[in-house]
Amino acid sequence: MLNRIIDGKMPSKYDAIQIFQDAEKDPSELYIASQFLRTRYKGSVVTYSRKVFFNLINLCRDTCSYCTYKSEPGQAKMSMLSKKDIVELVNIGKKHNCTEALFVTGERPEQKYEEARAWLKENGFSSTAEYLVNASEMALEGGLFPHTNAGNLTKNEMDELKKTNVSLGLMLENASNRLSEKDMPHQFAPSKNPKARIKVLQNAGELKIPMTTGLLVGIGESPSELVDSIYSIKEIHDQYQNIQEVILQNFQPKHDTLMREMPSPQEKYFKTFVALTRIILPKMNIQIPPNLSPRSYSSFLSTGINDWGGISPITSDYVNPEFPWPKIEDIKKDCYEAGFQLRARFPVYPEFFPFVNSDLRSKMLEISDSENLVNMEYTN
Ligand code: SF4
Repeated sequence: MLNRIIDGKMPSKYDAIQIFQDAEKDPSELYIASQFLRTRYKGSVVTYSRKVFFNLINLCRDTCSYCTYKSEPGQAKMSMLSKKDIVELVNIGKKHNCTEALFVTGERPEQKYEEARAWLKENGFSSTAEYLVNASEMALEGGLFPHTNAGNLTKNEMDELKKTNVSLGLMLENASNRLSEKDMPHQFAPSKNPKARIKVLQNAGELKIPMTTGLLVGIGESPSELVDSIYSIKEIHDQYQNIQEVILQNFQPKHDTLMREMPSPQEKYFKTFVALTRIILPKMNIQIPPNLSPRSYSSFLSTGINDWGGISPITSDYVNPEFPWPKIEDIKKDCYEAGFQLRARFPVYPEFFPFVNSDLRSKMLEISDSENLVNMEYTN
């Protein structure tokens, strides 16, 4: 089956589950096939995006059982950035040669919290989405390229953000409705309803917005639900060609959450699934966050990944604050030793430049090379 896939056959879901089960006993042939496909379609370049993480507002109307990002009013970790905070952070990011302004918020905080409504009013806005438009303009003006991850945005909101954002992000997490049932991680998170998330990704497709999406692995799903989830992403991409990358994130238990006792997925299970994703989506950009596998991230190169995602030399990963990003120099060295070249990309992948409006493209071209990656002189 793996040989036929290398020859161009698309595996069915049944094939994929069969490959997954065989690989659980011995994943070596799956890894060989996934590496082969990565080399065929991505060569030996592995990318990352040099970013600044803007934790714009971390109040959230939903509650996912694994989330430590979300804050309640008054908690020390609460973040509500003013316009002045944003400008200051943009300037620091620019000094450190960052290219991405990652804007992250909870899901429509103003629907639940008076504090969020007051903060928006203070800054002159009536919704988080409106503020995101303004924040993105400020980042762009300061020389960073925005990528917003703010939950289930409406089609109109995405259309507005498209003017300044080179791409947007929305994790599917998983396509299974079962994970929203009683005692499951998304029970109290209506925005994580798979149908709602898929609709947002489809709307982005209609708007021709390059989208980052992905799955959270190890939150109580079954292997066949994971396979179904990858096929859900594949269906969207087959229809709209707008999925620019798939992030595979391994669940890590957080001490202040309901899922604190649940172990993270076994590395072999996670790796098998990463390699399987390459088999199902051979040309896709596939990313694992290196900070969530701190001791073994470079070994994931043997599972067919070609990207490490956003890495910040100045801000934390507010979603996983206990996992600092490795130093970019260390990642570069690890990649080199494994036979790969580490290159900085924009928050939009090179092949998706044609999706981006001409103003944004011209700004990127000022610091890009002939392959639409960030010019090496800019980040060195
Ligand atoms: S994961 Fe996102 S939607 Fe869920 S509680 Fe956290 S911030 Fe809200």
